[in-house]
Amino acid sequence: MPEEILITNGMLVDGNGTAPVSETSLWVRDGEIAGIGNKDNFKVSPDAVVIDATGKTVMPGLIDSHLHSTFDDVQSNDELFFHRDSVMSALVTTQNLVKILRSGVTGFVDPDTAHGIGPAIRNAIEAGVIQGPRMKTGVQALLTAVGGTAGHLIPDKGTVGYAQIVNSVDEVIMWTRRHIKYGADWIKLHATGSLSGRPGELMVWSREEVRAACNAAKDLGVPVMAHCRNPESVKICAEEGVSLILHASFMDDEGLEAVVENDVAICPTFTFLANLADFGSKVGASPGMEDIFRGEIEQTAKMIRKAYDAGIRLVSGSESGFALTPYGHWHARELEIFVEVLGLSEVEAITTATKNGAWTMRMEDHLGTLEEGKLADVIIIDGDVTSDITMLNDKSRLTEVISRGSRVDLSGPWPEHGSIPGWKVGNWAAEILTWGKAYE
Ligand SMILES: [Zn+2]
Repeated sequence: MPEEILITNGMLVDGNGTAPVSETSLWVRDGEIAGIGNKDNFKVSPDAVVIDATGKTVMPGLIDSHLHSTFDDVQSNDELFFHRDSVMSALVTTQNLVKILRSGVTGFVDPDTAHGIGPAIRNAIEAGVIQGPRMKTGVQALLTAVGGTAGHLIPDKGTVGYAQIVNSVDEVIMWTRRHIKYGADWIKLHATGSLSGRPGELMVWSREEVRAACNAAKDLGVPVMAHCRNPESVKICAEEGVSLILHASFMDDEGLEAVVENDVAICPTFTFLANLADFGSKVGASPGMEDIFRGEIEQTAKMIRKAYDAGIRLVSGSESGFALTPYGHWHARELEIFVEVLGLSEVEAITTATKNGAWTMRMEDHLGTLEEGKLADVIIIDGDVTSDITMLNDKSRLTEVISRGSRVDLSGPWPEHGSIPGWKVGNWAAEILTWGKAYE
């Protein structure tokens, strides 16, 4: 049930990219922002909840535009594709949604979901069956038989985990339409994928296939996003009608031109790479990749800065849902990286997770900024986030999360689950037991 809430004397960051306003009040009623400014002008009822935000930042709830809510902090593709059933995935997702919400994320976009359960999860949240942030979702990712980033694990045809394999223009059109029928808010395709023995990722879709997906989706009023981790894929996807490019790794000048000309948004999703580069060794991630990932960030960042200066829409996505990006811990790290490597101001960085995030949710008119009449998704942080953006990832500073006009309970233990039979991949051994090792 929405509450009536009066937040007083806070520093307001409206999410539009405008300068913060200090000592301001914000009034929430019936799930909407009822007033901003001087509280004496509001007709607040006597039983409203009053929150003193002196010394605190009041801003829109974060929107994470690239998050995999059904992956349960997965540790490998093997686990993700072959050890997860749909019912348990849905049940575990309901717990993970609470972690996401409790970290200040009040809206997110999930490109592709295990067994295509995304629309059911979204509808359950909307109907109040389960608690969670506002959600927009794809069904499954469209992959060619090359197998996206999971290569040989992906079958030559059919469906597995979060993947739907498409092998011709006709199949692209058929599955785009089916996913929209099943409730997709977005269609996602894996434009690039890896082949063993070949460096980097290759374009694994033909131009005609990309065009077919975009046209079929556009006819039914649904946008397309694409995973693009080489220069060619960025250019082709931008030219053929993709609205949102994920990663845009190694974008070149031609790709940049296509992105700007076609008004395509970019979600760089540096967080996963940065976590691997900076902290991977702490959790036993594949060693030796640190420099490669740092290099990818630096090289890509230069081009994304150019694109930003040319006016493209930059959105923030954390790729949460993997062991290196667990739910509830890293949703705002992308903003830190935007400040650090793109040279954005803190207020500019925040806009990528507020106003621009509302664009990926297709809710720009209702969400993402603090304005009278907009939906009341608001967070309060102890301190001035415009002087130190890292505060946004520090949950000890997050004093309030207001979702749909009511306060989220931040007390109580952090939700965690114990071991689930068959859920995790067990390794027989971390190393090979040679005769020499046994007796060394
Ligand atoms: Zn992703």
